Amino acid sequence: MEDCLFCRIAAGEIPSRKAYEDETVLAFYDISPAAPVHILVIPKKHIQSVNNLTEQDGELLGHMFEIVARLAREAGIADDGYRVVTNIGQAAGQSVPHLHLHLLGGRDMTWPPG
Ligand code: AMP
Ligand code: ZN
Repeated sequence: MEDCLFCRIAAGEIPSRKAYEDETVLAFYDISPAAPVHILVIPKKHIQSVNNLTEQDGELLGHMFEIVARLAREAGIADDGYRVVTNIGQAAGQSVPHLHLHLLGGRDMTWPPG
């Protein structure tokens, strides 16, 4: 999608600090980190949010979570624990309408989230 920020990052038109990349997925460091480790994992194809997923996206989603687990291991936070968040729509505060998993860790998390 032309004017989607994360599509443009996936296409390399806007720079990002990459943590992982392959044909279908990109992971990059959040520009405004909310934790010592804050990485965004996105599909390269445009999907607006969880609301727009179909059964055909199952393999892609599994792959995204596998990348999350790999990045958590690499960051040394897998054993201590970490959080994976995806915001959907206005009430949840989704600010970029392109599906992304927030990988947050490196500090204790509180519950319930704000
Ligand atoms: P959300 O509010 O769940 O839609 O998350 C969007 C996230 O994208 C926020 O945590 C922002 O800090 C992050 N973000 C926005 N623009 C960029 C960018 N150019 N590079 C990296 N992260 C970004
Ligand atoms: Zn997009």
